[in-house]
Amino acid sequence: MTKALYAGSFDPITNGHLAIIERAQKLFDELVVAVVHNPNKQMLFSLEERKSLVEVVLQEANLAEAKVVTYDGLLVEFARVLQVDAIVRGLRVNSDFDYEFQMALMNRDMAPGIESVFLMTDSQYIFLSSSIIKEVKSYGEDISHLVPPVVDRALGQRLRRG
Ligand code: ADP
Repeated sequence: MTKALYAGSFDPITNGHLAIIERAQKLFDELVVAVVHNPNKQMLFSLEERKSLVEVVLQEANLAEAKVVTYDGLLVEFARVLQVDAIVRGLRVNSDFDYEFQMALMNRDMAPGIESVFLMTDSQYIFLSSSIIKEVKSYGEDISHLVPPVVDRALGQRLRRG
């Protein structure tokens, strides 16, 4: 049985994240998707809202076997507690690479038994990030091809109110 952890802020989850989850599920017997609680980072959605959006999106995409949890603290420590074999990360543009390389080496140093596994993004999602989605949507642009419908609606409501 192989078990992997895919973690992120998911503020909110995008089609880029979803594609990584779908592919990671094929690679591992068990996948845990972890939504991070980071009080130092300002988020548009609360931890519970982000988790619930991930759950709904996975349900709608028929990927609900993945378990969705929240965590705070150090990712590698959480990975150790869950006893996963691998930490999955998505790679987009060059700028992800340096940071991810550094984190992967640091994580290996702290937890030599846990592999970091990188999945290249799909080409249509190469410049897709939660922050760019929020920015573009706040100007009323159509992002419906980049996020699941439930996320599009949640963003519309949140950004109109805000
Ligand atoms: P963080 O705040 O850690 O960047 P994110 O939720 O933005 O959290 O990202 C979580 C993981 O998903 C990271 O490995 C990130 O590289 C990956 N990711 C984010 N957007 C995409 C995308 N468009 N394509 C592939 N991977 C992505």
